[in-house]
Amino acid sequence: MSTPTYNEWQQRAAQLASETRAFIGGEYVHATDCRTFSDIDPATAKTVADVARCGADDVDAAVRAARTAFEDGRWSRLAPAERKRRLLRLAELITEHGEELALLDTLDMGKPITETLTVDVPGAAGCFAWHAEAVDKLYDEVAPTAPGSLATVRRVPLGVVGAVVPWNFPLDMASWKLAPALAAGNSVVLKPAEQSPLSALRLARLATEAGIPDGVLNVVPGFGEEAGQALGRHPDVDVLAFTGSTAVGKLFLSYAAESNLKQVWPECGGKSPNLVFADADLEAAAEKAAWGFLYNSGQVCSANTRLLVESCIAEEFTARVVAHVRQWRSGDPLDPATVLGPLVDEAQANRVLGAVRTARAAGATVACGGTRPDGPGAYLDPTVVTGLTPDAPLAREELFGPVLAVLPFADEAEAVRIANDSPYGLAASVWTRDIGRAHRVSDALHAGTVSVNTVDALDPVTPFGGFKQSGFGRDLSLHSFAKYTGLKTTWIQYA
Ligand code: NAP
Ligand code: MG
Repeated sequence: MSTPTYNEWQQRAAQLASETRAFIGGEYVHATDCRTFSDIDPATAKTVADVARCGADDVDAAVRAARTAFEDGRWSRLAPAERKRRLLRLAELITEHGEELALLDTLDMGKPITETLTVDVPGAAGCFAWHAEAVDKLYDEVAPTAPGSLATVRRVPLGVVGAVVPWNFPLDMASWKLAPALAAGNSVVLKPAEQSPLSALRLARLATEAGIPDGVLNVVPGFGEEAGQALGRHPDVDVLAFTGSTAVGKLFLSYAAESNLKQVWPECGGKSPNLVFADADLEAAAEKAAWGFLYNSGQVCSANTRLLVESCIAEEFTARVVAHVRQWRSGDPLDPATVLGPLVDEAQANRVLGAVRTARAAGATVACGGTRPDGPGAYLDPTVVTGLTPDAPLAREELFGPVLAVLPFADEAEAVRIANDSPYGLAASVWTRDIGRAHRVSDALHAGTVSVNTVDALDPVTPFGGFKQSGFGRDLSLHSFAKYTGLKTTWIQYA
């Protein structure tokens, strides 16, 4: 089957009639006070839809629906194999409705349609399938107690999970939380980002079609300060799984402390270093260095936005990277040929541009970019900045845009020192042909994932998450179940 042409995507976008209401207890409903907010397409600055603006009352209704569903066992007490069957069906439905879901994410946050179609949609379907497949293969434990007693240690679902996610991979960030949480038997209330609510709302209906019972998956679109905070403070939410900025991750920890001590799992920001040694395959490293900070317009928590290059090759290697960067031309996200879309909104584009201007005013050199193209849309030209010291704000702070900070280093020890001198510890990359150095440097880097001779390695079979202020807990892999289950001991004394 051929994929739609540019023209066909434009027609579909013009005819879009997507669900904009909240999904609570198996039904689409308006916010109780009927308020809405505008969902803007960052490529055109036009309104895509007016979406239900949920507040504390709506969140409360969703939590009550989730609690009722959890307690009566309509999902939580199904056999794992039955939950697996239905979640596998959901994975199939995501694939069958892939073009529709891809279009929603592209219009919402500006990611090129080829990416949403070939990466985000299969990623979401694969995530549901992987966690579904796992759930009837997870065995629990029998503890080595003394004769005359039997102690089982089981993982049990925790109850009502609140999930609050960002806009950079709308369908996938939701799936990373939903798949293990649902597979484990919990009920979920999902708050998508205000910039990207539509795919989550569509997913909710697909879940119903797949046999996920009413009340088990609820979606409350709205603002973080309203719906997000209400979920974070709700006394009947057992777990809050969050992906987003470090500042908001900290807020969720305080919401929990001030309410019911719910478990909070924050997956937060990063400023990931990419270390290139002179002995590396420099052409491969240069191509991936460009990809590492330009993919999704740099709006990736694990984006490799700090390029650390061995001094003796710094100039030559930076030129190679810039040559690759120049091939990343931005365009209309609905054009299947586009590889680089706009940023998520005007405010973000101007904020990132402002940071580049500040760095330039402080003496840094802009090797390419540092400008916004003419015309509508939240576009920013891919930007490479040199002449920075490691303590410059541009080299330390997460920008969430297509901006690379280049920092030379003299030797291995200095490379590791600069790389680790960060409040974050999400991801890191190392390029070298020296196997000893690859291991030494990987061991020394404070990062949840170290990629060697590639950047930003990611797969459902490995855990994803970070150290330090990148948060704690892990998404993906069997380890993700640790967030959504608790250990329950049953001790039987029989002698
Ligand atoms: P954000 O502003 O922290 O928002 C994330 C979510 O939290 C959104 O749903 C947001 O709602 C909500 N929120 C905002 N303020 C809130 C508040 N006061 N109380 C409760 N909820 C609140 O992050 P973002 O700008 O959407 O996403 C970019 C960030 O996500 C970056 O820092 C990036 O590194 C991080 N990220 C991390 C990972 C990871 O796995 N480590 C993955 C992807 C992204 P609104 O939409 O209304 O603001
Ligand atoms: Mg936001």
